[in-house]
Parts: sequence; structure tokens; C-alpha cells
Amino acid sequence: MKYEEPKEVLLLGPGPSPIHPSVSKSMSWNTLGHLDPEFMDIMNEAKDLLKYVFETNNQLTLPISATGSAGMEAALVNILEPGDKAVICVNGVFGTRMADVASRCGAQVIEVEADWGSPIDPDDVKKTLDANKDVKIVGIVHAETSTGVLQPLEQIVELAHQNDALIVVDTVTSLGGIPVSVDARGLDVVYSGTQKCLSCPPGLAPLTLNDRALSVFQSRKHTVQSWYLDLTMLTRYWGEERFYHHTAPINMIYALYAALSLIKEEGLQQRFDRHKLNSKALVNGFEALGLQMLTPESYRLPSLHAVKIPDEINDADVRKKLRADYRIEIGGGLGPFKGNIWRVGLMGHGSQKQNVERLIKALGEIMQPMGHKCSVEEALSAVARTYE
Ligand SMILES: *Cc1c(COP(=O)(O)O)cnc(C)c1O
Repeated sequence: MKYEEPKEVLLLGPGPSPIHPSVSKSMSWNTLGHLDPEFMDIMNEAKDLLKYVFETNNQLTLPISATGSAGMEAALVNILEPGDKAVICVNGVFGTRMADVASRCGAQVIEVEADWGSPIDPDDVKKTLDANKDVKIVGIVHAETSTGVLQPLEQIVELAHQNDALIVVDTVTSLGGIPVSVDARGLDVVYSGTQKCLSCPPGLAPLTLNDRALSVFQSRKHTVQSWYLDLTMLTRYWGEERFYHHTAPINMIYALYAALSLIKEEGLQQRFDRHKLNSKALVNGFEALGLQMLTPESYRLPSLHAVKIPDEINDADVRKKLRADYRIEIGGGLGPFKGNIWRVGLMGHGSQKQNVERLIKALGEIMQPMGHKCSVEEALSAVARTYE
């Protein structure tokens, strides 16, 4: 073997997020056959735990065997047929991706846009729905990882339902970090990914459909274009029948089971509170370092923080030093924000006081000699005050 195990890097970027040791350990459990009764028990338990984190009783809840983007693709390819109208809300990278995927399903995509860094305005969704009859879905991103925007959902869900459209929600950066509440909110099709707030390595995409979505799926006129993501067959594999479709990624399912078990042990509300508190401490630390947040508090995510890079500071130099000297990874900006913002994730197991302190200290120490005036000491006491 040419390479050894890489040393740990503290993952405070837009994903993947840090993995709890018990999750890493579960990945080296003995690989069983994918129809082995012991494995099937773990599979069932993982499915039940997924319902717990989604806060749903949806029978059709399962992890797709691929990353979050496959969750997006599965959500859309199973619902959309050629010619269907899909209203897709676009205010960042992932809304853009959703529009792309929907159009590849043959849908007629109608975009509702907002500036990157701002949430989608329900009035714009209303205007679009008023102007377009027979819209089949409204697609929206709950937590836009490219900008750190938390999208309020209630009004848009209501508008979709008033117009007999399904609401399809991307919760990749919200599930396990902020309330998703699938049933309470009446969300029809919801997908996520394992590598953000669930703190599991990348590789699975939890997906859930309610009865309304299921009946739309069951009344399709065309076969689902994707063989791999066709829920007709996937539900037969994940259901009682255990009909072979593809070999489940056994050890990834162990990891999901372990990661979800940790969430259940912690409790959803406690986990949401923890994300909020550490996010507040991080923002206090940033502001004490003289950095500005991209988004106002009212729609700022606690799992992903977009912070503006000061004029005198070079983005790449700082991130290179963070990785080399402090072994911390944070993300750069995308699209219009390239070079202008950093994206700092406090996701799942990564959302911890000591990680906030470590990053604030490191950033201060790196930026000072580069000409940015700040006091590391003051920034750390601003962080500490948050926890008092
Ligand atoms: C990360 C992310 C995705 C894509 O997930 P992958 O695991 O990278 O495929 C989709 N949507 C959002 C909001 C994300 O943050």
C-alpha cells in the first residue's frame, strides 16, 4: 500500500462533517450479506431511526445508496414525467442544481429566483403559481449551503398545496441540525444526505415520501427513467419482500445506523439547541474578530455560516494556512461569492464549543500578521460569554 491513513483534519466546511468515533468504528464492523437476517434487522432499525429524525410516520422512508445529490435526483425522477411543470426556487447552488435535474427529467422548469444570500419570497412563488396552472411540484432548498440561508417554508408549502402541487424539499444541510418536521409541516417529498448534520460519511441520501406523493408516483404514465433510483423496485428491496435490486452498501448502513442512534440518544431538541448555541458563539467570535456575516440573524443557518472576507485578506492564503498549520478545513465561496466569503460549517458532531474556540483562535492568529487588526483574546472572550 502506498498511502497510510490520513491524519485527522477538523472538518468545519460545508461538508463532509466530523464523524463521531462510534460511527467510524461501526464502519469496520464485519460485512454481512445484504440479505442476512442480522443485517436486515439493522436495516429496519436504521429506517425507523430515519423516521425519527425526519419526524414522520411515512412508510416510504429509506436511504438511497448514493450521496445527497442522488437524493435530489431520486425525489425528482420518481415524481416528474416529461412535460410536467416544475416550479423550482433558485437562490444558490443547490436550487440551481435542482432546476437542472428537473429539466433532465423532461419537466418544463419555471424558476422563482432570489438573490444569492436572500431567501425566496413567498409572494414571488404566489405570482408564479397564479400565472401557471397545473404545476406538479414546487421544489425548494431548506438550508442553502452555498449562502448559509435558512429558507422559511410554511407559506410556500401552503401555496403549493393550494395549487395542488407537491412540495419537494432539500434538507441536506438541515436534517439533524434544525427542525425539518416533515409531518407537522406537511412536506410531501423530502431528501437529505448523510455527510452534513447527520455526521456520517458521504454515501447515503435519506428520502421520504408521504401518501400524497406516493399516489402521484403510483399514477405515473411512464416508467421511471432511472433504473437505479426507481422507487418501484427500491421499496420492494427495503420492504417486507427484500426483493433483490442492488447490493446495499452494508457498512455505510452500519454508519447511518450508528449516527442516527447518536441523534436519538442526544434527543432532537437538544441537538437543535446545541447547534443554535454553538452557532451563536461562532458568530460572536467572528464579529469580535471584526468579520461580518453575509446574512442577517433572522434567516441565518446554525449549521453553515457565510462570513465576509475582509478586503485586506486573501481567501486562499488563509485557507491554506488553516489546513497546513492548524489542520482545519473551511469552505470558500461559490458563484458570485467566490473569494468574498468563507463558509464555516458547525454540523452534527462538529458543532462543539472547542471547535468554535479552535477556529476563532486560528483565524485571528492567521489574519493578524496579514494586516487585519483584531484581538484573539477579545474574540475568545466573546465566544466564552456566549456560554455563560
Ligand atoms: C451537499 C448538498 C447537496 C449535495 O449533496 P452531495 O452529498 O454533495 O451529493 C445537495 N443539497 C444541499 C443543500 C447540500 O448542501
